[in-house]
Amino acid sequence: KAKELGRNCIHEFDFENDVAIKLQYRELEYITQGFSNNEFLLFYQPKINMETNEIVGLEALIRWQHPAEGLLPPFRFLPFIEEEPLAIELGKWVIDQAIKQHNEWRDLGLVIPISVNVSPLQLQHEDFIEQLKEVLFLNNSFQAGLLEFEILESSIIKDTQHIAEVIDQCKQLGIRFSLDDFGTGYSSLSYLRKLMTDSIKIDQSFVIDMLDDMDDQAIVKSVIELSKTFGRTVIAEGVETKEHGRQLLKMGCQLAQGFGIARPMPASSVPEWIHLWKTSSPWIA
Ligand code: C2E
Ligand code: MG
Ligand code: MG
Ligand code: MG
Repeated sequence: KAKELGRNCIHEFDFENDVAIKLQYRELEYITQGFSNNEFLLFYQPKINMETNEIVGLEALIRWQHPAEGLLPPFRFLPFIEEEPLAIELGKWVIDQAIKQHNEWRDLGLVIPISVNVSPLQLQHEDFIEQLKEVLFLNNSFQAGLLEFEILESSIIKDTQHIAEVIDQCKQLGIRFSLDDFGTGYSSLSYLRKLMTDSIKIDQSFVIDMLDDMDDQAIVKSVIELSKTFGRTVIAEGVETKEHGRQLLKMGCQLAQGFGIARPMPASSVPEWIHLWKTSSPWIA
C-alpha cells in the first residue's frame, strides 16, 4: 500500500515537473525569438542628489516590447531565462546598449554616469570579463569610470570569493559597483563585508513604508549608518514622495531614486527630462 502511494506521488510529481519544464521551454523559445526580433529595449530612471539637485546617474532597466502583449517589465521574462545561456547574451547586449546610449547623450553634451543591473550568475560566467573587455573595446570612446554595475544580493551567489575577484577585475577597468536591493537577501551583511562595492542601494520595500512603519524606518536608518561605517555611498530607491526625500535627508542619505523624482522612461525622453529637471526649481526646496 505504502509502496503504491509512494509510486503515485512520484508519478504525480514527475507529471507536474514535466509540465513545468515544457512551459519553461516554451517561454524560453518565445523570449529567444523576441530577442532575435530586436524587441528588447532599455528604459532609464534617474538618480539624484537631493541636496544639490544634481543628476548623479541613470539606471538602465530592461523592457520587452511584446508585439501582442505590449510593454513587459523584467519579472515577466527574466525569471524564465535566469539560468539559460540567453541570459548571458542578453546581459552583454544590455551593457553594450547602455554604453552606446550614453555615448549618444554625451555627444549632445549630457554626461551622466549609467548603471546596469547584472545578475550574480552573469558575473560568475567564465567569459564575463572577456566579453566585457570586448564591449569596452568596441565602444572605445566610452570612459569605463562612467559605468556602474548594480548586483543583486542573491542566494545564487555560489562562490562569493569568485564574485569578489570578478568585481576586483572590473574595478581595475574603472567600473563602479553597487549592492542592489540591500537588506532583502539572506546574507546582506556578509556580502557587504565580502563584496567591495562602492555603494549600497537601500531596498525600496523599506523606503516606501518607512513613513508609517517604524520598523522599516529603523532599518533604513541602520543601513545609512552601516554604509557610513563601511565607507560606502548610500542611495535610497523607492522614493515615491517628497516626504520620503525629506526624511532621508534628515537621516543623512542624500542620493535618491524613485517614482516621486521620475519613473523609468524611454531613452528618447531622457534629454527633455534632463532639461526640465535643470530648469525647474529644486525638487526639495
Ligand atoms: P531594481 O534594479 O531594484 O530596479 C528598481 C525597480 O523598482 C524597477 O522595476 C523600477 O521601475 C522600480 N521602481 C523605481 N522607483 C520606484 C518607486 O518609487 N516605487 C516603486 N514601487 N517601484 C519603483 P523594474 O524596471 O520592473 O525592474 C525590476 C528588477 O528587474 C530590477 O530591480 C532589476 O533587479 C531587474 N532588472 C531590470 N533590468 C535588468 C537587466 O537589464 N538585467 C538584469 N539582470 N536585471 C534587470
Ligand atoms: Mg537596480
Ligand atoms: Mg534595487
Ligand atoms: Mg528591486
